[in-house]
This record gives sequence, structure tokens and C-alpha cells, in this order.
Amino acid sequence: MTKSIFASIVGRPNVGKSSLLNVFLGEKIAIVSPRPQTTRTKITGILTKEETQIVFFDTPGIHTPKNKLSQHMVNKINESVGEVDLNLMVIEAKKPLNKVETDLIEQFKKSRSPVILVINKIDQITNKEQLLTQIKELKDLYDFKSIVPISVIKKQGTEQLLEEVTKLAIEGPHFFPDDDITDQPEKVIVAEIVREKLLKYMYDEIPHGIAVEIEKMRHREDGKVLEIDCIIYCEKSSHKGMVIGKKGAMLKKIATESRIDAERFLDEKIHMQCWVKVKDDWRNKETFIKNFGLNS
Ligand code: GDP
Repeated sequence: MTKSIFASIVGRPNVGKSSLLNVFLGEKIAIVSPRPQTTRTKITGILTKEETQIVFFDTPGIHTPKNKLSQHMVNKINESVGEVDLNLMVIEAKKPLNKVETDLIEQFKKSRSPVILVINKIDQITNKEQLLTQIKELKDLYDFKSIVPISVIKKQGTEQLLEEVTKLAIEGPHFFPDDDITDQPEKVIVAEIVREKLLKYMYDEIPHGIAVEIEKMRHREDGKVLEIDCIIYCEKSSHKGMVIGKKGAMLKKIATESRIDAERFLDEKIHMQCWVKVKDDWRNKETFIKNFGLNS
């Protein structure tokens, strides 16, 4: 007998949704960054353990839409809440719920969605009484399937959370091959890897106006090396210079680290070339969003 469950990971930015997905999958799929709102694409992770297959949706953090791209992200979240078998709502320990979080609970009430409430970052709590009080208060807000306190960083409670999800799986077929960990095209994953490196090194200099496109991904004729051409789009020409760095040093560092991670992910030898281009005000350009496949 096989079972499966479609679970969406929802919550405001920076609560640890991508980190959680990474821990579940033991692999770097979703981008993790200390800067909020970095997950732009809905990345799906797949975890098959014995008879149960869990399909995860990692959503961008919920926030008030300010431009077409963030509107797109909010649409994605709203889509996923009612559609899935289960929502994992991730919040942070200690912090009171904010308006978007209470709105999300209202949405759950409307769609009567099954929800597990995940309280992350309990490693930051010194007073356990405080956590118990928080749980007591949260219990009254909605008929959660369960409330699970965890620390993704310390890997505390994550196994228990996985068990709670597994318990809710529904009898039926597996939708993906058992050894798959994502349904995302390899190009999307490689672009995410490059974007992660950009955010890691350009943290202070460049805000979110950066996009990565993998233009080409093709094996050399001997089949031994995978050639990847990557374009990094910036909003301003001053950003272009910063991404390239002195004598190309920054771009080289980003490309090298990206290649190493991509080789680990794809398990093959890669030759990667990166170019930097300027694209003005791309976030509000509908066609550009379409070109990037961001409007589903
Ligand atoms: P997302 O925006 O919700 O996907 O959040 P991320 O997974 O990108 O994590 C945001 C930040 O929180 C990163 O700096 C993580 O390292 C950090 N973080 C995630 N889980 C924990 C945790 O359990 N404890 C602590 N202290 N920090 C965490």
C-alpha cells in the first residue's frame, strides 16, 4: 500500500521555510539566505520514505505586494493554501503573530484547510515557560492538526514534524519516482544556486533587483562535461560593475562556488560561464516576468 501527501510550507519571510525544506531533503534545493523574500520560484521538494511520498511546496514569504513580481508571489501563496492536502504554517518562537499571519489563519478558516503549526527557532528561547504560554494561546486560534515546536538549525523536532506529516498521508499512488527530490528543471535549480551565491557575497550592495537565467545547458560532444551558460541580470549598470568586481574577481568567485555546488547537485563535471547584463526596472516588466516563467 502506498500513500502520498501534498504539503505547502507557508509563512512570512525569514521564519525558516527554505531551511526546513533543505533539512527534510538533505540537499540544497531551496535557497537559504538571511535576507527575507529571496525565494521567488515555487520550488517543489519530494521526499519518499518507505510507503509514503511527501511533495512539498516552498512558497515565497507572505508580504504586502508592492510590484508585479511580489503580486505574483502573493498569488502563488493564495493558490497553494486551498489546493494542498496539508499546510505547514511556519512561525517564529517568541514573536507575536503579525497581521499577515493572522490573515493567513483567517484564510485557513475559510477554506477549512488542514494545518500543522510549526514554531521554529526555539533555540532562541531561554525560558521554556514562555514557549508553553505561546502554544496555549495559539491553540485557541484554529483547529490545528498539531503544533510542533522545532529548531531547524539544531535539528530539534524536525523528525517529529516529519512523523506528524506522514501520519496525515492519504492512501494512493506516488506521483513521482521514489528517488526524485524535485520536479524543478535542472536549469531552475542551477539558477537558484547562482542567485544564492550572489546574495551571499553581494548582501550589502545589491538589493533584490537581480535575476539569473541559465541560457544554455548542454553536454560537450564527448558527453563528459556539462557546459552551462549563465546570465546575471542587474537593475543598474553600477550593479554590473560590482557583480564583476575588481579584475573580474567577484564574478569568478561566484561562478566557481556555483559550479562546485551544481556539480554536487547534478553529480557531473561542469564548465560554467557567467555574463552580467543590465535590465532596467525588470521587476515591473510583465514580459520579462513571463519570459522567466514566473507567472506559472
Ligand atoms: P524563509 O524566508 O522562511 O525561507 O527563511 P530561510 O530558511 O531563508 O531562513 C531565514 C534565516 O533564519 C536564515 O538566516 C536561517 O539560517 C535562519 N534560521 C532558520 N531556521 C532557524 C532556527 O531554527 N534557528 C535560528 N536561530 N535561525 C534559523
